Amino acid sequence: MKFIIRDDDLNHFSKSSDISRWYSDIFVQDIPVSFSCIPFINPVGDMYPAHMPQEYKEFSIIDNPELFDYIKGNTLIEILQHGTTHANKKEKGQMRFEYAGTVPKEEAKRGREELERAFGAPVSIFVPPHDWIDTAGVLSVENAGMNIIRGRGAGFRNWIFRPAYVAVFIRMLWFKCVYIFSRKQGLLKTPAYPHVLNFGRHKEMCSYRLEDPDVFAGLEYAHRTQGIFVVVTHLHFYDAEKKARLLQLTVRARELGAEFVRPSTIFI
Ligand SMILES: [Zn+2]
Repeated sequence: MKFIIRDDDLNHFSKSSDISRWYSDIFVQDIPVSFSCIPFINPVGDMYPAHMPQEYKEFSIIDNPELFDYIKGNTLIEILQHGTTHANKKEKGQMRFEYAGTVPKEEAKRGREELERAFGAPVSIFVPPHDWIDTAGVLSVENAGMNIIRGRGAGFRNWIFRPAYVAVFIRMLWFKCVYIFSRKQGLLKTPAYPHVLNFGRHKEMCSYRLEDPDVFAGLEYAHRTQGIFVVVTHLHFYDAEKKARLLQLTVRARELGAEFVRPSTIFI
């Protein structure tokens, strides 16, 4: 089994001291952490995060040298792209996530280029804000030449007319049926598909949230299927309880003989 930590929402306002505060003990164990980073956060309208200035403005990651200098010096960190602005596209009180609905073809590429300029390293994985992406969003990500790590579900949520989509659809249908008729072993809903899915022009991997009540059952499932386990955390919303839960997961993963990896290694 391969084990991946995906921490979401790193942005212009993040501080390196938060990374060292919550992850120095993880890094000491030689465990990589991937941060999905918002290239140009626009705080207006989205649910996250509340403490930011409520201005309709893009704040680029490139204006936070303290953060990217720290990250450049840490070989255990990989940067992923988390949307482009993470902004809600509807009025307050309603949600339409950034990569849903109309998404310009060049939008993902614009974000990718900014991250690569800031961190001086290739960025090859896209994480949709709120784990939600529509077909136009997928096409924009494909145009940027990236793969996707999404939430727990994949295979039924988007549709592009090409043979690879049909193949994945059939595979996921079979996967769901097997789950329904098998012993569920602690899983409360269909587990995250534990292998990389190939959609032709891009690939996808699914993930669990640290807060999922059956995240430990998901880990055991990934081990039994010799698959990949991805857990999603949030640097800005950590507390002692969540951190303890992450540590318990890493301890159990080590007992199961897991290999702790950077996410780009699974799409090669
Ligand atoms: Zn986010």
